[in-house]
Amino acid sequence: MRIDSRVPYRYVKCTLPAAIHDASSYASANAVYFAYMSSLRERLARIIQGDVSDDADMRKKYSRDTSIFERTPEVVVFPKSADDVASIVRYARDAALRGEKVSIAPRSAGTDMTGGDLTDSISLVFTKYMNHVVDISNDAVTAEPGVYYRDLEKQTLAKGAGIIASYPASREICALGGMVANNSGGELTLRYGKTARYVRELDVILADGSKATFKKLTFAELSEKMQEESFEGEVYRKSHALIEEHAADIEAARPTVTKNSAGYALWDVIDRQKQTFDLTQLFTGSQGTLGIITRAIVGLVKPKKHKAMLVVFLTDIGILPEIVRRVLEASPESFESYDDQTFKLAVRFIPQILRHFGILQMIKLAFAFIPEMFMVLFGGVPKLVLMAEFAEDTAEEALDKARHARTSLHGMAVRTKLARSETQAAKYWTIRRESFALLRKNLHGLYAAPFIDDIVVHPDNYPEFIPELNALLQEHHLLYTIAGHIGDANFHIIPLMNLAVEKQRKEILELAPKVYALAAKYKGSITGEHNDGIIRTPYLPIMYGEKICALFAEIKGIFDPQGILNPYKKVGGTIADIERSMIRDRGRV
Ligand SMILES: Cc1cc2nc3c(=O)[nH]c(=O)nc-3n(C[C@H](O)[C@H](O)[C@H](O)COP(=O)(O)OP(=O)(O)OC[C@H]3O[C@@H](n4cnc5c(N)ncnc54)[C@H](O)[C@@H]3O)c2cc1C
Repeated sequence: MRIDSRVPYRYVKCTLPAAIHDASSYASANAVYFAYMSSLRERLARIIQGDVSDDADMRKKYSRDTSIFERTPEVVVFPKSADDVASIVRYARDAALRGEKVSIAPRSAGTDMTGGDLTDSISLVFTKYMNHVVDISNDAVTAEPGVYYRDLEKQTLAKGAGIIASYPASREICALGGMVANNSGGELTLRYGKTARYVRELDVILADGSKATFKKLTFAELSEKMQEESFEGEVYRKSHALIEEHAADIEAARPTVTKNSAGYALWDVIDRQKQTFDLTQLFTGSQGTLGIITRAIVGLVKPKKHKAMLVVFLTDIGILPEIVRRVLEASPESFESYDDQTFKLAVRFIPQILRHFGILQMIKLAFAFIPEMFMVLFGGVPKLVLMAEFAEDTAEEALDKARHARTSLHGMAVRTKLARSETQAAKYWTIRRESFALLRKNLHGLYAAPFIDDIVVHPDNYPEFIPELNALLQEHHLLYTIAGHIGDANFHIIPLMNLAVEKQRKEILELAPKVYALAAKYKGSITGEHNDGIIRTPYLPIMYGEKICALFAEIKGIFDPQGILNPYKKVGGTIADIERSMIRDRGRV
């Protein structure tokens, strides 16, 4: 018996009894060796075209993302095609059926803040090979998951097409797969919504290794799909039955805030008015726990070109709710914010920030920052800076709207400024977009620790919510920064912590559920865009209750019966998982 190095392992396995019986033959010994004695790396390398590594440095490199967690993968796999991904999934499925503990965590650019892409088994990394834009039409792009957003946007703009308007603040470092799998949002989400709104079609590898293409189906198309004698057919039958059976509970659980990435979006699968069934909406935001995306078709928009920004400097947080209400009435395209800590850090690290820019822009920005330096020097730093950007068809229209918003704030205790062009607005955007990266890179010995990083409440609840949140944060005496999408009431609170200290790690476990409970009390979301991962999965019942979480578990069981797809994220994660995987060093010192 000759063993072809590309013969999938499951076929080798089928021939094993005969091989063992005839142990004198070299080939059969070979089969036994590869089936049971070889390393996971060797076994996987034999069944795919891409690369597999268990080198210590490589495993370390992929043991972290931007969360507070660390998990070292047993192997790192760089697939070259959907076929490779299918082979890896089939391997994991077969191994799980034999009782082995093998699972797969897909990873695009690894900028996840929740530990969603971390694993101690197989890390499946898409940015090395599966990083191509396949097609660009006027209003959609077809691309592989590993393409960096910055590269994708260059190509769509070069073709005169639009952009993916839900790009996150990590736009320079994240990739498409993660944007879809996290249902990311960003500075334009206030007007254009999150990624789910733009996902039209997904090619995925299901838990049995089969390929499926998910897109919006009419009810007639759904009936056909449900008749298929395949795992895909079963997925359609069972998920449809589950969503129908629990329709009322599911509808009641639908979050009412504008942004949510917590749980599985069961409420977005069936559109009863349009009579459609769309599994892309369940997949988007599912963090690789239901299947692995190998290609996506995502809609593009062309945002209005002319912009003007109203900047509001605020010292009394008490009047924030009223300011937000008045500014939103003028319908800004985006409405962002950052606090005094972020402001001071940005001024302190201006040279670093400027390094990202070309020489001309660098000089312009350096001059633009002079007033901010004076503010820091003379103690006039505002508690909060709010940036409302108005985008319209003409420069006059945009400026008019910004002026209108400014007028609406007359009589309130704020300073305001109009940035009439993109150049004038650039420094504010720079601070806002760089805020988390600044914290991560510059605070030696302290981690920028995302664990209450993404709560959302309705702006109407600000007057009660903000004092309660402040009280909680003060109770814990933490050093933290707040930046975020104020228009969507989505707060990024990032405490700065020394994770080598057990007391600080405990603080995370104490504070997180209190903040989530507060968000839930105001019918908000525990995560607007960063998703659940390791950090929030155990707390999903706080937001949804046990009944809905049981439905999440059923959905997971339908799509992933062997539990091989990014297990313990979204479903089954525990507080012990959080404790076990938390980073335990001081960061860069
Ligand atoms: C400085 C900074 C700012 C950020 N700002 C924002 C923001 O404004 N909005 C926002 O939404 N997020 C933000 N994030 C979080 C993160 O960058 C985004 O969610 C981003 O879209 C993740 O993309 P990624 O390619 O890095 O994904 P990864 O980190 O690689 O993965 C994210 C999740 O998707 C899964 N996944 C990856 N590829 C696939 C695939 N092919 N199939 C199935 N599942 C897959 C992973 O398993 C993981 O659970 C920020 C992060 C940083 C560091």
